[in-house]
Amino acid sequence: MNVFVVNCGSSSIKYQLFDMSNQSVLAKGVMERVGSENASLAHTIDGTKHIRHIKAPNHTEGMAVILKTLVDPEIGVLKSISEIHGVGHRVVHGGEQLTKSSRIDQNLLAIIRQNSQLAPLHNPPNLMGIEAAMTAMPDVPHVAVFDTAFLSTLPPRAFRYAVPEDWYSLQHVRRYGFHGTSHKYVTLKTAEILNKPVDKLNVITAHLGNGCSMTAVQGGRAIDHSMGMTPLEGLVMGTRCGDIDPAVLIYMMKQGASLEEIDNTLNKKSGLLGVSTSSNDMRDLLASADKGDPKAALAVEMFVYRVVKYVGSYFTVLPSVDALVLTGGIGENSLPVRHRICLGLERLGAKIDPARNESLPSGTPGPITTDDSALPVWVVPTNEELMIARDTIAELA
Ligand code: ADP
Repeated sequence: MNVFVVNCGSSSIKYQLFDMSNQSVLAKGVMERVGSENASLAHTIDGTKHIRHIKAPNHTEGMAVILKTLVDPEIGVLKSISEIHGVGHRVVHGGEQLTKSSRIDQNLLAIIRQNSQLAPLHNPPNLMGIEAAMTAMPDVPHVAVFDTAFLSTLPPRAFRYAVPEDWYSLQHVRRYGFHGTSHKYVTLKTAEILNKPVDKLNVITAHLGNGCSMTAVQGGRAIDHSMGMTPLEGLVMGTRCGDIDPAVLIYMMKQGASLEEIDNTLNKKSGLLGVSTSSNDMRDLLASADKGDPKAALAVEMFVYRVVKYVGSYFTVLPSVDALVLTGGIGENSLPVRHRICLGLERLGAKIDPARNESLPSGTPGPITTDDSALPVWVVPTNEELMIARDTIAELA
C-alpha cells in the first residue's frame, strides 16, 4: 500500500510518499513559493535532490505538478497515480469535535473550516491542500490527521483557563495543544524501545524545534501539555515568547502598541530571537555564547531553564516517569542543550552520561543518561509524516 502524506502551508506544499509494506519513503519533497510564477520544487528520491523551477499560481496547480513528478519517467517513482492507495493530510486544528484521525468527507471539511477561526494561519492552507489533492485524486480515500488530536485527552483541570466559564462555552477559549502527531509518535516509539505496553507508559515528551512543546503522558494518554489555545504558550521558542503575563499585552497596548504589532512581536520577534537580538537558531546562539555574547548566553539559559521548570511540574502530576524524551531539531541534535537540560534535572535523578550524549548518532534513538539514572533521558527522533501515514492506513483498514 502506498500512502501519500501532504502538509500544506500558505505558500508551501510538503509531501512524502510511503510504501507502507515496509514503511519506506519512496519520494519526498517540498514546493515553495506556491501562489507565485516562480515556485520551486525540491523532489528527493534515493537521497538525491532534484530542483525544478515551476509555475504554481495556486495549490491545485502545485499539487498537479507534484503528482506529475511522482510519475515522471526520469525522477518519478510510480507508473500511475492510481498506485496511491490513500492520502494523509496534516491538519493543524481539529477543535473539540475532531479528536482522532478521520476519513475526509463534506461534513468533516465543514468542521475543519469552522475551526479555521481557531487556527487562521494554518487550517485555511491545510484545507487548500485537501481540496487540491481531492481534485487530483477523487477516487482515493483522504484522511485528516490533526495536530491537536493526541492532546484531546487532557482533563478539564489541565485544558481550562481560569477565566469566566462563558469564555470557554461561548468562545471556545481553552488549551488545545499542538505538535500532537510528534508527541504521539515518540510516545509509541518509546513504548516499543522500553518494551512496555503503551497503556502502562508514563513519559514526559519534549518536542524542541523552532516551535517547542512538552506533554505529560500517563498510560500513553496526554494529561497535560505546554502549548495553549494557540502555539504561543509554554516553552521559550525560536521566535515565540511562550509563557507571559497577559497583563504585559495590556500594558504594551496602553504604551501605544497596536494589536497587530503585539501579535507579530510575540509570535515572530520574541523567544530566542527576541532575547538574543541576533538569531532564532540554537546553533548560532551556542556559537555566539561561546564567543562571549551575553545576550545569546541568556537566551540559551532561559530556554533550558523553562524546559527544566516544565519537566519539574509534569514530574509532580505524573504518578511515575519512565523517561524524559527529547525530540525535534534541538532535542535530536543539540548536544550542549541536552547536556544542560540533564544537569538542570539532577535533583530529579537525571545523571547525564556525556559519552552517550556525544556519541549518539544523529537520527538514532538512545539514552543520554547512565543506566542507574533515576530519571532516564532519551533522545527519540520524531517522524510526523510516518505517523500520519500509519494513522491513514489505520483509518482505511
Ligand atoms: P521546525 O520546528 O521548524 O521543524 P526543527 O525541528 O528543524 O524546526 O528545529 C530547528 C531548531 O533545531 C533550530 O533552533 C536549529 O538550530 C536546531 N538544530 C538543528 N540542527 C542542529 C544541530 N546540529 N545542532 C544544534 N541545533 C540544531
